[in-house]
Amino acid sequence: MNAKRKRLLNITLLYWLLLLYIVAALVFWYLELEEQNLQMISHRISELVHDDPSYPEKLQALWSEKQRKSAQYLGEGVVFLAVIIIGAVFMYRAVRRQFALQRQQENLMMAITHELKTPIAVAKLNLETLQRHQLDETKRQKLIQMTLQETNRLNALAGNILVSAQLEEGKSFAREEIDFSDLVKNSLSEFSNRHPDRTWNVSLQEDTELRGDPLLLTILVNNLLENAIKYSPPGSPVGCSLQKAGGQVVLRISDAGAGIPQTEKGRIFRKFYRLGSEQTRTTKGTGLGLYLCRKIAADHHAHIKVTDNTPHGSVFTVKFEKPAH
Ligand code: ADP
Repeated sequence: MNAKRKRLLNITLLYWLLLLYIVAALVFWYLELEEQNLQMISHRISELVHDDPSYPEKLQALWSEKQRKSAQYLGEGVVFLAVIIIGAVFMYRAVRRQFALQRQQENLMMAITHELKTPIAVAKLNLETLQRHQLDETKRQKLIQMTLQETNRLNALAGNILVSAQLEEGKSFAREEIDFSDLVKNSLSEFSNRHPDRTWNVSLQEDTELRGDPLLLTILVNNLLENAIKYSPPGSPVGCSLQKAGGQVVLRISDAGAGIPQTEKGRIFRKFYRLGSEQTRTTKGTGLGLYLCRKIAADHHAHIKVTDNTPHGSVFTVKFEKPAH
């Protein structure tokens, strides 16, 4: 990582030096031309005959010519300088974007490898235990349930990665009429089966329709539910409400976790952004979930925001401005 930063620093330094050299060469070229221009005119003035009655006009004509040439050199110089600066800015931005992209991809690879290893290792261990030992039915069921949970996590992660790649490529998505109430109900039933220890405070308005992509909207709902579970203590309640209000469809998912500090509320929707540091984090994740939620929301004319829950926790609100029509 350090070597890369050093390389980037070296390249940036070289780039600025080169640019400085080009601009200095241009200024030098302009001064040289000006000097030559002046010398040439001085020489031609010295050749003029002082007694000539048309001497003042000839002198005036020579000075006019000199000024015309100076203006021409200056004009050419300014155009060259502008072209160089515009080119340099474009190049600088392209290189920086390339480096940022590379860094993002490296982060993604690190996060994915990290995220993939754990569920695979757990599932493998569980299956080996089931294969090698004669376990009683309760233990067997518990191991199978744990393996299923890990497989679900893998599935959700694969979905998030695939969809973010597709959305970034600008891939078009389906725009069909969806019964959003049914979609949310299905996700909720899946989550409540997986987390029977939670109290689910659900209030869904029936027949809430939206126009969009069912797969993407499922990912949006699932990511918010997943976070509500992940970032709140076991056994604490999770809320989910869906309402139609004034031509808008509003989805709210709340939890009773620690909540999100005010300064972090804007940042959590950034790609790969996770609160805290590698040392302090106790939860698993890639920082892709909320980034995708915001992207999917935007693609569906919706706005997503987070507010504080009372007495503590977070409320994620997704407002769809243009429901099905
Ligand atoms: P991930 O969960 O994979 O880290 P997300 O993009 O879903 O990535 O979330 C980004 C960060 O926002 C999380 O790492 C977490 O710190 C914070 N966060 C998201 N949802 C909640 C929530 N319901 N309560 C508290 N913090 C949250």
